[in-house]
Amino acid sequence: MEYIYFEGKIVPEDEAKISVKTNSLHYGTAIFEGIRAYYDEETDTMWGLFFKEHYQRLFQNMKVLNMEIDEDIDQLIQITIELIKKNKIKSDIYIRPLVYFSDLKISPKLIGYNAKITIYTYPLGDYIDINNGIKAIVSSWTRLNDNMIPPRLKVAGAYVNSAFSKTEAILSGADEAIVLNKNGYVSEGSAENIFIVRNGKLITPPLSDDILEGITRQAIITIAKDLGYEVEERHIARTELYVADEVFFCGTGAQVSPVVEIDHRKVGDGKPGKITKQIQEVYFNAVKGRIDKYKHWVIPIK
Ligand code: PMP
Repeated sequence: MEYIYFEGKIVPEDEAKISVKTNSLHYGTAIFEGIRAYYDEETDTMWGLFFKEHYQRLFQNMKVLNMEIDEDIDQLIQITIELIKKNKIKSDIYIRPLVYFSDLKISPKLIGYNAKITIYTYPLGDYIDINNGIKAIVSSWTRLNDNMIPPRLKVAGAYVNSAFSKTEAILSGADEAIVLNKNGYVSEGSAENIFIVRNGKLITPPLSDDILEGITRQAIITIAKDLGYEVEERHIARTELYVADEVFFCGTGAQVSPVVEIDHRKVGDGKPGKITKQIQEVYFNAVKGRIDKYKHWVIPIK
């Protein structure tokens, strides 16, 4: 039996239920996070990754949606640790906090309702391939923008856009979608940020190009700079993807995933790139607490 944090308590899964009348279910106004914890056999330790950063983003997102909950960031971190212990988890997992308006009332608005948080965990290996390289297409769907449904938010409704592009990619025989924003520039994948490499330099779209403010994106920028690479945040045009030396996605779920084909054109020589692999190696050591200077990214849970 799995345990879930629900309505202020850790309860068995079958007690964590909401009504079909729940307001956020109807209007896509739930805010969520996707957090990872990795199991390291060598040290028999679960390593919680960027717990604080994810809960900080959750609170920022909640602020935009006028949501308030009873718990604070430190309490949510403790609850997450407790959940991992109570569920006796010894494998790589995804942690899903979800904040929703729990009122059983009709009307899409952000005032006059109560917000609640639930947190559950589930096993997650690689969300997309990280070894052989994946195929991507540029989606025919346009990324949302800040004055519609802000892509800065991990808000449920925004993921209709992700679902359209991801489905299009799968139906086209690809693994992932790259979505252009309203100005025609590259924004991100369906659920991951994107980097390209040109002449030894990393380039990624700026926060103003309708992307999620990715926590992994920031970690990759740090790793790349520490390795001595230049990182530029600027617009990326569609065809720059075709001429890039390397392309990779990153995200909590995606981790660091090399892209080897875009719109039926090989990226570089059609194999995972050298710099991508170098960054990937550092990332996977960092998330298991093996690199001293990145130890503050993780919390050991025994
Ligand atoms: N973009 C989108 C749309 C996402 O859903 C995610 C996954 N949270 C990311 C980027 C990557 O963000 P993070 O590194 O914070 O997981």
